Amino acid sequence: MTLAAYASDATASRGRRFTQAPARNRSEYQRDRDRIVHSSAFRRLVYKTQVFLNHEGDLFRTRLTHSLEVAQLGRSIARSLQLNEDLVEAIALAHDLGHTPFGHAGQDALNDCMAAFGGFEHNLQSLRVVDKLEERYPQFDGLNLTFETREGILKHCSHAHAEKLEQREPGGVGQRFLNQTQPSLEAQLCNLADEIAYNAHDIDDGVRSGLITLEQLQEVALFDDFRRQALTEFPYLRDKTQGRRLLYEALRRMLSAQVEDVIAASTSALVAAAPMSVEAVRLAAPLVQFGAEMRAKSQVLKAFLLKRLYRHPQVMHSMGQAQQVVRALFAAYQACPQEMAESFLVQPGVAGGAADAINASARVVADYIAGMTDRFALREHERLTGLKGASTDARLA
Ligand code: MG
Repeated sequence: MTLAAYASDATASRGRRFTQAPARNRSEYQRDRDRIVHSSAFRRLVYKTQVFLNHEGDLFRTRLTHSLEVAQLGRSIARSLQLNEDLVEAIALAHDLGHTPFGHAGQDALNDCMAAFGGFEHNLQSLRVVDKLEERYPQFDGLNLTFETREGILKHCSHAHAEKLEQREPGGVGQRFLNQTQPSLEAQLCNLADEIAYNAHDIDDGVRSGLITLEQLQEVALFDDFRRQALTEFPYLRDKTQGRRLLYEALRRMLSAQVEDVIAASTSALVAAAPMSVEAVRLAAPLVQFGAEMRAKSQVLKAFLLKRLYRHPQVMHSMGQAQQVVRALFAAYQACPQEMAESFLVQPGVAGGAADAINASARVVADYIAGMTDRFALREHERLTGLKGASTDARLA
């Protein structure tokens, strides 16, 4: 596969933080992907909530299946744009490694708990997992991934955290948030593939759960145009028993249309900007994008999902319970750090004063909780408080 001049070339990588000899049979980005697939954090994704709590049903997306879908969509688009598929795959598979149990509800609760100790951001945590928390090598912490994979993993970052990253690693992955420059096209693509993936699978999971209906979805043109198109072509899908096939046929067409739109709009943007290197890409405006019409339609879908699914009373109830679990765990481990697994009891050596030591010990608790799967968090909650958390009620249909 020939890469475009603006693609990331593994042989021109900015490299790893700890120098390692090149692999014999794999490119540096293939090697990153393999390290991610073999990591403990990756295996935990299967038991972490995407939207529906992990125990609410076996067919709902989890963070793992979501990440696989992002990788699939990303690779398809990357191939058409002559971008580096291996880098896209590595970033996509790692992009959610830092997610807490219980999805965004868990992250918000942990961020609240950490407010006085530097906060908690899941993108930053994904980077922390691959840079520090994975323990797999004798010579260094983390997975020692290439700059380009780490750059893609750090999708967002607050200014304050970017400054801290820049202090630790001058010219590293924090710099672009201070300079307001862009990441590689492969990173930009993963960002959009993430959005395309969750918009489609949240419709699927939402309809499966019974919390949203095809009738409600008629207000979303991006979906409903394809539902009508499918009905025109296959009139027997009007039969009530064919709802699932109708849903998937509409979703399939919606996904294809979005993929084709990104390829067309990004190709135009690339032709216009004509970047001749990754460095030129970083200095240009964002180039992987939807066309204006698709962007607007996607916003309508997102607004629909926010209102009808993410803020559905039943989802909010589950998430409220999940937040209480996270808060209770944080308080319990803060009060009694010895309740954490043994490997978390080794406090990091902290330079500085008492405030730094307090922040560092809170960070260890946050790392421990963030790494938990939904079910481990619930078990720990029950063990430490004697209370059942979100495990028994609020089940979805
Ligand atoms: Mg994601």
